[in-house]
Amino acid sequence: MKTTLLHGDTGVTIRDIVEGFEYNELDEKGLYGLNGRLTIQPEYQRRYIYGDGKKDVAVIDSIMKGYPIGLIYFNQTESGDYEVLDGQQRITSIGRYVRGLFATPDASGHQQYFNGLAPEVQQRILDTPLLIYVCEGEEPEIKDWFRTINIAGVALNDQEIRNAVYSGPFVTLAREEFSNPSNSFVQKWSSYVSGDIRRQEYLERALEWLVGDSGKAIDAYMSKHRHDDNVNELRTNFMRVIDWIDSVFVDVRSEMKGLEWGRLYAEYRQGQYDSEQVAARVSALYADGAVRRRSGVFEYILGGEQDKRLLDIRVFEDRDQKAAYERQTVAAREAGKSNCSYCSMSENVDQQSRIWEFKDMEADHVTAWTRGGETTPENCEMLCKSHNRAKGNR
Ligand SMILES: [Zn+2]
Repeated sequence: MKTTLLHGDTGVTIRDIVEGFEYNELDEKGLYGLNGRLTIQPEYQRRYIYGDGKKDVAVIDSIMKGYPIGLIYFNQTESGDYEVLDGQQRITSIGRYVRGLFATPDASGHQQYFNGLAPEVQQRILDTPLLIYVCEGEEPEIKDWFRTINIAGVALNDQEIRNAVYSGPFVTLAREEFSNPSNSFVQKWSSYVSGDIRRQEYLERALEWLVGDSGKAIDAYMSKHRHDDNVNELRTNFMRVIDWIDSVFVDVRSEMKGLEWGRLYAEYRQGQYDSEQVAARVSALYADGAVRRRSGVFEYILGGEQDKRLLDIRVFEDRDQKAAYERQTVAAREAGKSNCSYCSMSENVDQQSRIWEFKDMEADHVTAWTRGGETTPENCEMLCKSHNRAKGNR
């Protein structure tokens, strides 16, 4: 990992940085500097937030007074150009000021634009040196470094760091597709995908849906495809998953947002589903008061309604369990049988009359929930733990 001062021998001044500075008012983004060689706001950065008449003014005030404005870090891209890693807000403030986009108050409180300053003051500002470090190195080192610098600066998330580390044609194209809020598909995608599109979380989902959700697998894919001139595989897979969801679940429900659709697609895409039947089952399960986790309904149906754990079915209230225990135990003692109805039918004589303590029993639905049995006191029966578990596993 190499960290060098940018133009170490001659240094960099504000004049160099603001050369060719462009600012996009509409997007509130500083775009380029260093005569086009510097991308001021890569996609993974926050938008410009210093334009509040305070923070931007403070940056200029510091420069005028000859105070340091802190270290700035650039990332060197594959093509040998630069991206601002840390310092985007300060550089954009400087560029906007020199371009005359805002004024700062002078000693007597009058607003002064850059153009209105005395020529020697202008020169002094432009000649101000900036301490800019450029980072180059192996991917793991750079990633680690990004994480370290995060502590002090803008907190980049995992995908933002990956985009910086694997910057190149693939990332550029992938961002255009999956990080662009004005993409007309985003509205539709947002029914199933959670996260902030500006913070690269849709792109992260698209990658997860293709290679799985391990960070290592995403790293490997991005590294391998770094120089690709297209994102066809990524786009095709993403669209395929979206189309599959649409074809199986015709009604969009809010609980569908953010599910692991990539995994569900991989596991269940071979299944045959009648979308009308599926819609009816979704409605029925949504209407069932015992279903406590609606987000589990979709996988439950995809898996043939086998795994009830996905639904977090409502359990019996403690008082209902205790009432059932008392009722069963009194009756069992009178009859000389076990208070677990399964034990009482056992072939083992000791077991037939065994009286379990409350803590050794669990509540079961007499009529199974899957057959319409409700979680009401009348449908509660206590069984010994081993029988309840054996029953549940069938
Ligand atoms: Zn039993």
